[in-house]
Order: sequence, then C-alpha cells, then structure tokens
Amino acid sequence: MNNIELSNLIYPDIEKTASDYEAMYPARNLPEGARVTRLGPSPTGFIHLGNLYGAFVDERLAHQSGGTFYLRIEDTDDKRFVENAVETIISSLEFFGINFDEGVTADGDIGSYGDYTQSHRGEIYRTFAKKLLAEGWAYPCFLTEEEISKIREEQEALKLAPGIYAGWSKYRDWDKDPEVASEVEERIKAGDSFVIRLKSQGTPNLPAEELKRTTVVDAVRGKLEVPENFQDIVIIKTTGIPTYHFAHAIDDHLMRTTHVVRGEEWLPSLPIHVELFKALGWETPIYCHTAQLMKIGEDGNKRKLSKRKDPELSLDYYRSQGYHPACVREYLLTILNSNFEEWRAENPEADIDEFEFTTEKMSSSGALFDLNKLNDVSKNTLLHIPAADIACFLKSWSEEFAPEYEYVFRDMEKLEKILDIGRHDARPRADLVYARQIMEFIGYFFDEAFEVKDELPAEAAADAHEILKRYLESYDHSDDNEVWFGKIREMAVDMGYAAKPKDYKKNPDDYKGHVGHVSTVIRLAIVGRAQSPDVWTIQQIMGEDAVRSRIERSL
Ligand code: GLU
Repeated sequence: MNNIELSNLIYPDIEKTASDYEAMYPARNLPEGARVTRLGPSPTGFIHLGNLYGAFVDERLAHQSGGTFYLRIEDTDDKRFVENAVETIISSLEFFGINFDEGVTADGDIGSYGDYTQSHRGEIYRTFAKKLLAEGWAYPCFLTEEEISKIREEQEALKLAPGIYAGWSKYRDWDKDPEVASEVEERIKAGDSFVIRLKSQGTPNLPAEELKRTTVVDAVRGKLEVPENFQDIVIIKTTGIPTYHFAHAIDDHLMRTTHVVRGEEWLPSLPIHVELFKALGWETPIYCHTAQLMKIGEDGNKRKLSKRKDPELSLDYYRSQGYHPACVREYLLTILNSNFEEWRAENPEADIDEFEFTTEKMSSSGALFDLNKLNDVSKNTLLHIPAADIACFLKSWSEEFAPEYEYVFRDMEKLEKILDIGRHDARPRADLVYARQIMEFIGYFFDEAFEVKDELPAEAAADAHEILKRYLESYDHSDDNEVWFGKIREMAVDMGYAAKPKDYKKNPDDYKGHVGHVSTVIRLAIVGRAQSPDVWTIQQIMGEDAVRSRIERSL
C-alpha cells in the first residue's frame, strides 16, 4: 500500500480534489487593498465583550477598505453546542451595529464562499485530509488514550517535550514497516477508530539556540519569531470532525480571508498554523492577535475579565442595563485605538466611521476595560443623539427588559422634553448615561415613581409648611423663569431669609438662611431631591395640575 492507496482506503467516497475547491472558491473580485475578515464564534450560548471587541476590529478593517466581513459559525466542538446560540450571536452583534456582508444570517447563508457553518463542511475537510494523506503529509494514528498517557510518562522521565511526534507513534512511519502497514490496512478495513495526524517536518526537542524560526508579521504585534512546530497534531478527530487548527486553515484559505483577527490565546498555536498552511501549499493570512480584555481587580491589580466574577463581560449586561449601542461602540474604540480620544476631541460631531482605525494603534499588552470610563463616554455620546431617538431607544429597551416602566412611554412628546432638559445649554447637562439610570433619574416626573429622597434643609425645615403654602397661593404657571424666581426671592426676604447666599454667609446671624434654602424646600416638594435640573423647566413640562398636586401632597 502506498500513500495514495491509503488515502483511497480511508476516504473512498471523496471524489472532488483540492483544485475543484480552488475553482469553486476563486480569489475574490475586490479592489486592491480590500480586506476580507471574518468572525468565527463558537455557538456556546455566551457572547461576550471579547467577541464584540474582535468583531469591531474585523468590521472596521473590512469596511474601511471596501472589503468583505463575514460570519462563520465554528461548531466543530460538538460538546459545546447550545440551542439558539447562533440566533443570539447574530442578534447581539446586530444590536451593537456589527453588520456582516456575508455568511450565516437569520435567514440562511448569504454569499458564494459557503457553506459558512463548519459542521456542514465535512466533505471539504475530508478532501484536504485525503490530499495530505496522499502526499505523505498526514497519517492515521491508532494510539489509544492509555498508550498516549504512557508515552507522556516516558517523555516526562526523559525530560522531553510531551506529545506525539517523530519517534513516538509507530503509525507515523507505517510505510517503512510492512507489519505496521498491514496492521493499518486491516484496522481501517475493520472500522477501528483512529485520528488523522499531521506528519510534521519539524525537528523535535532542539535546544533553544538551534530552534528554527519563521518570521510572521502580526498586524497588531509586529514581527513575531515563530518557532518551528514538530508536533503531529490531530487534524481529524476520531469522530471524523476536524480540529480547530485544520478547519481554520482550510476555511480561511477557501473563503479568501486576508486578515485573521483573533484573541491572543491563539498565539501558542501559531507554529502549528504556519506548518499547516505550508503543508496545504497556501500562504498564511495576516494575523491580528488582539490583546486580552483586562480590568483593575479588587486588589488594585490588572486581571483578565472573568465570566464568573464580572457580569460586564457578557454582552447581555449592556443590553439589559440599556446602554445605547452608539455608546458601546464609542467606548470600544477608545480602548481599541490609542489615538481615538484625541481624534474625537478634535472632531466632536463627526460620524464615528470617519475615524481611521488601524491595527498598529492597538495595544498588544492588554486592553483595560473600565465601567466608569464607559459611563463617561456614554454621557457624552448621548449628548449627540437627538432626544426623539433616545426616547425610541428607551421604549424598545423597556419593552424587552423592563416593562415595569411602561408609564414612562405613555406620552412620548413629554418624554422627549424631559430627556432634553439642559442639553442645549452653553454648558450642556450630561445627566443621561444608560436606560436603567435614566429611568431612575427622570422618575420624579411620574407619580408612579415619585418619592422624596432628600431631607429638608435645616435652615428652612421649620418654615417648610409656610413656604409651600405661600408658594401655592402665588403660583402662576404662565410666569416666566425670571418672574417665577423673583417671587420666590420676595417670599424668602419676607420670611427672614437672605436674598443672596453671599449675604447670608457674611452675616449669618441676621437671617434664618438664604433664598437657596427656601427654593430647596420647593424643589423637594416637586422633584423629591435636593439636586435636579432647573425647577421652572421641570414644572413647565409637568403641567400646572401636576405641580399643584405635588405641592398639595407635601402640605
Ligand atoms: N472559534 C474560535 C473561538 O471561538 C475562533 C477563533 C478564530 O477566530 O480563529 O475561539
């Protein structure tokens, strides 16, 4: 039996060849410099900030260059499959404004480089496994788990690298030993289970100074000196399903991916991928290994975001808290590109897509994630979104995540006015951060949520009843802001309070307090808090009846 006969014995039904697939998936017809990127999530049911972070890089690289960005579902790890996970991936990314040009969609595949789901691509993987077998670049390996553990123990004792590589699996050199060759043939015919391994050309266990290295230019990290692989890694598992390594090489080649953006946890696999591409006779794509998302932990040290400890790692967190997608996008760019904030300061009104994203400006040492910073960015970003749009966003958020706020949306025109308070001032108020916070912040407009949260100021507490009584008597809803405040000042002076805070500060013994203490009593009755936007404006939006009933309620 020779290599070709072996490949036919293992894959008798595979009739297509590598060149058939090369012809089926030709080089893409795209302008010079256009980049083709993909997101390859596994359908585990958990979509996290890291996925979005990577997707953002993919999306920008492709769309800034007139290229293509596609979604591929990487479901070769059958143990991790979760119902509806694909739908969740698609809808979550869509929510955050990540749009694919091609690949898996809610209504099936789009594009001519599919199928875009790895579990549907079995025949393609088998074709290339057959090719590697026929060329002597791969071999079937029948080692059992126990045998592999024994090999590992021996290697440990000899202080050699663990793993299956030259010298450790008799099946690797089956063609040099007629006995092994006939064992292989018989066992394949008998239907015994086996994996297919790459027959690595690397030299095992060289001292560091003799190790051969290949230079790979990573778009984020620059030049990497990648050591030669010598492991006979599994390319096809006993189930017939490819490993991530093998599927990655084949899919990214046939789908004509130019840039592979993935987390730095894949860096240690790079030697394997370099050899696999060589074995398959292809050029490697340009790798962009992105940094891990880190946060400052409880002990003040940087640590990786963890699924267990950090709810903010899940994308669901941002949706259920009601962060506007534009805010999350804006924030992600601030941690993705070190020059984004400077650009934003110079171009406060510009569309975010006008920023030129580059992989060179990405940090390779760990991107620091900070919720407080997200909140700051959110405040500023919302200032650039019209109140009507924010109102619509809040409404759909509430329908999905917080139906208890239904009363907020009964009068959308009123809601818009509420959201817009102080936003067009010379120094605009940046009160709005995310939906849950906004519901809390504007709650006083609605009897359903109104409550008095702060204490009366000590200086005016004794007079509170009298202040509110007089306020109600003199209240005229048509007074403008100046007339309205003039009346409060007049009342304050009449009751023994200073007309200005500074008068009171100078001669505290001459007054009970100052006009601010009097107006705080009124503010508390209307808003329930000692701090709020301008009370006159609030009253105008509330309407006369509501104002009067708030005061009466306090009396
Ligand atoms: N399916 C891989 C993962 O979920 C994707 C890695 C890649 O993008 O190459 O980690």
